[in-house]
Amino acid sequence: MMMNLQEALDLWQYGHQPTDTSKLPTDIQARLETAPEHARAAVARVTSEDANRALPLLANAAASSTSGKRVFWLHKAAQSLADTYGTHSACRPGCSHCCHIPVKITQAEAIYIGRQIGRRPRAAKHLGPPPSIVGYESPCPFLASDSCSIYEWRPMVCRSHLNFDQDDLLCRLLPGMSVPVPYLDTRLLVLAAIDILGQTQPIADIRQWFGDVGSEQHDRPSTGRTSLHKQLRGNE
Ligand code: SF4
Repeated sequence: MMMNLQEALDLWQYGHQPTDTSKLPTDIQARLETAPEHARAAVARVTSEDANRALPLLANAAASSTSGKRVFWLHKAAQSLADTYGTHSACRPGCSHCCHIPVKITQAEAIYIGRQIGRRPRAAKHLGPPPSIVGYESPCPFLASDSCSIYEWRPMVCRSHLNFDQDDLLCRLLPGMSVPVPYLDTRLLVLAAIDILGQTQPIADIRQWFGDVGSEQHDRPSTGRTSLHKQLRGNE
């Protein structure tokens, strides 16, 4: 039976144990009343035909002979979803809340990105501990002035991380609180990537692979593209 990505890529809400909603700011409490319906309506605007454009790209990834080629096609598949769903999301240029939460990538993807940007990731055996702080104190090392400095080569998860509420209110990070955001459910894509790249792949946060690159010289010229969500919102 043909898989239907549009049905599989439903919504899920970040944070398995969201904060007791009565403790959240009142504007967020009010938004949580309307966000699920808004998000469902937004996702419903995507046709199966459009969503399924990612499938042959995943097939290309699975059929590729090297891990670099597999990552190349996985990025294409994630970008296809970004192009299809992004126009219906709340994600906008200059918005970088999600560059301050965990960004887990496989070793194969870290090596692929490292090759493109001219920077070698740490060896898996030399990875430090994952970031203990999730918040604005702990940005992705590639975030610069609220823009992605490796936009063209950014990870698969960054491409497909989309909020389907009406704006970024629920994405704002509140210290010690977990707010459920109606993100696109891309767990199937992540599982497919792990299967395609090999289940023994080390997986770590982008901060562990690349460390504190924001404060170091970067030997790759700028892509000239300045925002994480510019391409996610590429049809604007
Ligand atoms: S790689 Fe780019 S888009 Fe992804 S979290 Fe880092 S700065 Fe944001």
